[in-house]
Amino acid sequence: MALRLFDTYTRSLREFKPLQLPEVRLYTCGPTVYDYAHIGNLRTYIFEDILRRVLEFNNYPVRHVMNITDVGHLTSDADTGEDKMEKGSRRTGMTAWQLAEFYAQAFKQDLQRLNIQEPTLWCKATDHIAEQIAFIQCIEANGYTYRTFDGIYFDTSRLPNYGYMARLNIEGLQAGARVEMGEKRNSTDFALWKFSSPGERRQMEWSSPWGVGFPGWHIECSTMSAEYLGTFFDIHCGGEDHIAVHHTNEIAQTEACHGTRLANFWMHGYFLQLDEQKMAKSTGGFLRLQTLLDRGYDPLAYRMFALSAHYRAKLNFTWESLDGAATALNRLRTAIYEWGSPGDGPAGQVDTGYAQRFLEQVNDDLNMPRAMALVWDLVKSDLAPAVKRATVLYFDRVLGLSLAEWKPVAEALPPEVLALVSQRQQARKEKRYKDADALRMQVSAAGFEIEDTPQGPRVHQRK
Ligand code: AMP
Ligand code: ZN
Repeated sequence: MALRLFDTYTRSLREFKPLQLPEVRLYTCGPTVYDYAHIGNLRTYIFEDILRRVLEFNNYPVRHVMNITDVGHLTSDADTGEDKMEKGSRRTGMTAWQLAEFYAQAFKQDLQRLNIQEPTLWCKATDHIAEQIAFIQCIEANGYTYRTFDGIYFDTSRLPNYGYMARLNIEGLQAGARVEMGEKRNSTDFALWKFSSPGERRQMEWSSPWGVGFPGWHIECSTMSAEYLGTFFDIHCGGEDHIAVHHTNEIAQTEACHGTRLANFWMHGYFLQLDEQKMAKSTGGFLRLQTLLDRGYDPLAYRMFALSAHYRAKLNFTWESLDGAATALNRLRTAIYEWGSPGDGPAGQVDTGYAQRFLEQVNDDLNMPRAMALVWDLVKSDLAPAVKRATVLYFDRVLGLSLAEWKPVAEALPPEVLALVSQRQQARKEKRYKDADALRMQVSAAGFEIEDTPQGPRVHQRK
């Protein structure tokens, strides 16, 4: 069963074949570390994790590179506004460097909680300034740059194919943007290097052949992907918002310097929405993974929720659907647990018929909703429990729900703790989350931890 993936560049499903084995080379745009990731961002990282796991399920070793944007991402994608890191530094009182370290660690913790595999290699923009300068010099030597009062810009009119992936209507954009263009020659031109403003003392700035300043946001990905994966590699991913600007500009830079179109496949995860609106840090309407944990959800319930939609469909977040995912996850965990551990009796064999159908679903452009439907079909089937268990655990290599590790916890509780737990249940029911949090703290002070499950709270002694 061939693996077929949707390629945004050609807008078609294409059969995936590695460019050059032994490895599939995958680059995924990483976080801008000026704040916590929101669960929308995390939806994209779950999609990319599923992609990687499906490649591995097809027996392709994957070399996965993810960058950390710790400089140069401005508050507006049009190269205006402030650097998000400098702004974040003012907001928090940390230095821009501390801020980057702090949020990069928080991000890695989120990935771990969601069972998202770490990339083979992390790379930070600020660790690759000299390489980015060299890349810009390469673009300059080929005649694609010009200078304005605030930076070195890429002249997009020099690339006939500019904007192809996003199917940009260049003339329309040009006509609509005359006023805000400043010294830019074309509305789609973008900064490769920005100068520090006169009189401004940035925390992150470097000297360059053009003057003191910092790299534009897009150049880091062209530079670091070339450095660690080569100038033409297998798959490049990100969220759908990257299609029109960030990835379009990465493609332009790489074409201008290396003459290649960067990646063989371009894949994009669609947005998570909150109340049918895009979830974005800039609008303030966003939820962190920690918010879900504070309300008693298991982080893997969020992963389960993300698996309920195809990555190329928008997904609306509601607490009710998260509850549904938590219930489903627990049903699955309980079923697997009850089918026995490999220690009890002979281990089952993976059912080849189901395995084949599962492969068909995941290889059909990562159709996880259909793959999950197959899992439920298997749960209800009359196969031997040991076979069901072995088969679902085999699928879990792709699902990433840690199904083998889960165990129910049952312990006797002191009556006063029991009373606090039931008061907290009541508070939660009435959506008095502050009271519920306070009661959780009291339970914690008594030496117990509450784990919320769809069957009700489970309480165990604190480790
Ligand atoms: P950022 O940290 O803003 O650079 O974004 C990190 C990743 O999250 C990028 O791949 C974005 O495309 C993606 N992203 C941003 N907002 C959302 C959202 N609401 N739903 C899904 N992915 C998103
Ligand atoms: Zn990128």
